[in-house]
Amino acid sequence: MTDTETQIESPEEFRLRARAWLADNMPPRPEGRSYERNFERCRELQAMLHEGGFAGVCFPREYGGLGLTPEHQRALDLETLSYEMPLALNVPTFGIIGATLLEFCTHEQKLRFLPPMLRGEHVWVQFLSEPTSGSDLASLTTRATLDGDAFVINGSKIWSSGAHAADYGVLVARSNWDVPKHDGITVLIMKIDQPGVTVEQIVDTGGGTEFCQEFFDDVRVPLDHVIGKVDAGWTVVRGLLAHERNSMGDASIYVSGLHNAPTERARSDIMELALASGKADDPEVRQLVGEDYALRFAQDEAARRVGAGMATGHFPPTAGAMLRLMGARSGVRRADMALEIAGSAAVAWHDGDPAAPVGVRFVGRQSIEIGGGTTEMQRNLISERLLMMPREPAADRGVPFNEVRHNAAPTREKS
Ligand SMILES: Cc1cc2nc3c(=O)[nH]c(=O)nc-3n(C[C@H](O)[C@H](O)[C@H](O)COP(=O)(O)OP(=O)(O)OC[C@H]3O[C@@H](n4cnc5c(N)ncnc54)[C@H](O)[C@@H]3O)c2cc1C
Repeated sequence: MTDTETQIESPEEFRLRARAWLADNMPPRPEGRSYERNFERCRELQAMLHEGGFAGVCFPREYGGLGLTPEHQRALDLETLSYEMPLALNVPTFGIIGATLLEFCTHEQKLRFLPPMLRGEHVWVQFLSEPTSGSDLASLTTRATLDGDAFVINGSKIWSSGAHAADYGVLVARSNWDVPKHDGITVLIMKIDQPGVTVEQIVDTGGGTEFCQEFFDDVRVPLDHVIGKVDAGWTVVRGLLAHERNSMGDASIYVSGLHNAPTERARSDIMELALASGKADDPEVRQLVGEDYALRFAQDEAARRVGAGMATGHFPPTAGAMLRLMGARSGVRRADMALEIAGSAAVAWHDGDPAAPVGVRFVGRQSIEIGGGTTEMQRNLISERLLMMPREPAADRGVPFNEVRHNAAPTREKS
């Protein structure tokens, strides 16, 4: 396919071409797994998509993408539903970090970092949260000290999803302690496999090991790895967090493939559970199935409407907070509904029991109200930035960070 042919291809033509290519090249979606976090497999799948000319639909052509529209991406998404896709690369690699690099990096940085990302060669991670700085991210204490042509990084990050499998991290660090907290932050691209970086996996309540904590001991990051301007990184962070809300609210144009079929096309796992556990005739269970359908439908429509509003500038970037809030609240409600339907089978089950995953899902449900900024912080954003209600008081506003009481930078316990 030549450049000119691709440029004039309509979403419908693109869809038909994708349909034929997927049937010939991509493996079928594995049964019962809608969300596969095997990063090595994802690298292979992404390389296949790239080779076939279906990677980075909305990324510009000069940086390795296809330069097409969200309608083309949507067409591809629907065609990929029955195929194995590298879904774990969507967040944060493409939807958050790819989008942030596009928005804030120089042309040279984009040329260097985006094409390998789209070829599936580099997995990325976000180094934002610290043991003592989460919701109040600007209070972070990881230190970036200028030394010649590099920053030297010391400190620790935590809850970094997938850091053990990642090649690069977007790191937020404090480069100036003599100014108010938002004014002394620099955002850097950090190569993970280098001296001074230690990545430790954390075991979560469900037994998962995807969360990591990292320790940085005199890690050198060259100046040409700064995203945006030195000390002005808070602008980049705000952009990144907006991309994160979009990604988690299903409104990012940079993610590819769908975890679940859109509501109008598929039965949900709630309905499947009702059927599989023989309770589909129970009037109370039927109420729950109806509630689930209404929730999913409203969520799909809100994502489309708010996503389009942000893309056309009718809504500010903070509007993604509404989708993020809605996604988290409905995710929690749906985990509760599954528990109600499964009953005691969610607590003790035998192999092959349709209720087997329900209890584990319930135990982990709170994480969707925390990751990407907590539900409370989304409510704050909506009230302060969308409804223009008064901002909550902050004792440290306008005060140099080194005069504000803050936690000490965490260090690694050495055995
Ligand atoms: C699934 C998942 C994935 C994650 N992935 C990453 C990642 O890849 N990289 C990364 O850097 N981090 C990641 N995180 C960490 C996440 O960003 C933080 O956990 C989150 O920002 C909250 O920070 P905290 O845990 O320090 O809680 P805290 O900020 O200590 O908050 C504790 C509680 O206080 C509430 N609270 C705090 N401030 C206010 C306020 N002003 N108004 C009202 N309530 C408030 C919070 O809502 C929360 O309920 C992930 C977390 C999860 C659960």
